[in-house]
Amino acid sequence: MGEDRLRDYRGKRDFGRSGEPRGDGAGADAARRFVVQIHDARRMHFDFRLQVGDVLKSWSVPKGPSADPRDKRLAVPTEDHPLEYEEFEGVIPRGEYGGGTVIVWDRGTYEPLSHDRRGRPLDFAESLERGHATFRLHGSKVRGEYALTRFRDGDDGEEAWLLVRAAKGGAGRGAPDPRRARSARSGRTLAQVAAEDGGT
Ligand code: MN
Repeated sequence: MGEDRLRDYRGKRDFGRSGEPRGDGAGADAARRFVVQIHDARRMHFDFRLQVGDVLKSWSVPKGPSADPRDKRLAVPTEDHPLEYEEFEGVIPRGEYGGGTVIVWDRGTYEPLSHDRRGRPLDFAESLERGHATFRLHGSKVRGEYALTRFRDGDDGEEAWLLVRAAKGGAGRGAPDPRRARSARSGRTLAQVAAEDGGT
């Protein structure tokens, strides 16, 4: 299953150069993981990833998640990533797909909360396929209930979703200034990772 689902991911990358995981390892464990990475690529953005089965479903979120329910954050789907990508922090060389520096800004587990109209729990993967999923994030920074909602399908143009914080529950932080943010993994900033792992 993971083999097919990672075909787009692998097709875009030269793993001998990029330093990113190929995704031949790690099976899904019981707790569902999420990660928010900051990616200083051609355009600075946040990458929001939720473990669904044996892959990380992924969205590029230009401004990152907000802690304010009034902020609707654009989230553009990207290819499924391997579970090991949760750990990835480093420098993808210029000229490679996604070239630029990546840090793990936050990560943790999430609880699926998706329900159907009658309030019955809905399979999380299915809710995403239908274009609306709700979940509670338990990160070290981002906490609370969020929803991902597709508002434009990919038939003409780019598929687009919104990532929005639910009104209830006040804890947790929103996305910081990406250049000042520190990795949840290593405590480093983008500039420090670039200097230490960049090689050139
Ligand atoms: Mn990215």
